[in-house]
Amino acid sequence: MNKLQINGERMLADLNSLRSFGACGTGVKRRAFSEPDIASRKWLANRMSEAGLVPHVDDVGNVFGLPGDTNDCILVGSHSDTQPEGGWLDGAYGVAVGLEVARASLECGSSPIACVSFQDEEGRFSTLTGSRVWTGQLSLGEADIRTDTDGLGFAQARRRAAEIGTVGKVSPERFRAYLEVHIEQGPVLDIFGDRIGVVEGIVGIRTEKQTFIGQQNHAGTTPMDLRKDALQGLARFNSEINARFADVVTDKTVWTIGHVALHPNATSVVPGKADFTIQWRDLDDGRLDKMRAIIHETARHVAGQLGLEWTSSDYSSIPATRCDDHIVKAFKKAAELEAPGKWRLLNSGALHDAANVSFLMPMGMLFVPSIKGISHNFEEDTALEDLLLGAETMARAINILTA
Ligand SMILES: [Zn+2]
Repeated sequence: MNKLQINGERMLADLNSLRSFGACGTGVKRRAFSEPDIASRKWLANRMSEAGLVPHVDDVGNVFGLPGDTNDCILVGSHSDTQPEGGWLDGAYGVAVGLEVARASLECGSSPIACVSFQDEEGRFSTLTGSRVWTGQLSLGEADIRTDTDGLGFAQARRRAAEIGTVGKVSPERFRAYLEVHIEQGPVLDIFGDRIGVVEGIVGIRTEKQTFIGQQNHAGTTPMDLRKDALQGLARFNSEINARFADVVTDKTVWTIGHVALHPNATSVVPGKADFTIQWRDLDDGRLDKMRAIIHETARHVAGQLGLEWTSSDYSSIPATRCDDHIVKAFKKAAELEAPGKWRLLNSGALHDAANVSFLMPMGMLFVPSIKGISHNFEEDTALEDLLLGAETMARAINILTA
């Protein structure tokens, strides 16, 4: 079998082309199934065709580039949708590297490689919607009833998959492993001056919507002691949860109240309803389950104190995952050859499609440094040399794995 040799400049050129879809200053706005997302996926499918790969679009908008009919290839990729205000590299980098290694494998006559861009990794409709449906972690029926924060249903949004190309199924059984390179989205590599991160595991993530219901009323005539103010519930919950988590969490555990919707959200009205999401992440699934119990206890306690009603809904859970030992070994070897003494083992605090894919096949991930650790932000960036080095390390690891 011939060796895989990639063209780094061509990968960077693709990455720059991808950046132009939804470009906004130095960043990108390319939410799943938005106009720029559909346009970028059409472009990607075209680039796959030009490379001699066969593009396949599945019913949730994941775009695969397959090297003919082979049923034994490595799948390499990431996602190309972004946060509402996203950086230019989050996901896009791994998609560009996937395209490059798959294209180069055809040119070199090396072991066949397929590439993919998963859809809605950034959770417009649900956490990692595209890879969760593809791997069977979320049924299409369950996905279809999810809506974005404006009320657009996934069932309606995903009809646009047909605009990208002919929709069909891509069996995960075609692939023997999944590899992904991604920006770190954190400060560790940058702080230590390392250029490659070999990922050992991806933290588990839990998300749940909480709702406090009080009594919507006049802000001038309702005495303070007679109010049932839903926002006060949220405020008290937020300070109590930090104290109550203290006995359970480690310095690596994180939690966030990221989305808040107040009703009626009007200056002269006592808020009658506060909906908010809380999300928490850790490498220990047992700890994550304990935290959920604490969240419920705390919310119930706060509701009782303030005379509010409390409900929770839309719970989603993705377990912590470990990367495949054999792949980690190949990545370590490749990293030492490409960046001697300038790489380290890391855990991923961010969730990735790779976590879902790991249920079906051996999985491995590489990181490249994020300058100042900034991501999910227009300022997100990585040195071009590091983007090239990440791609070369991926190619070298593939050669090790397929030797
Ligand atoms: Zn990402």
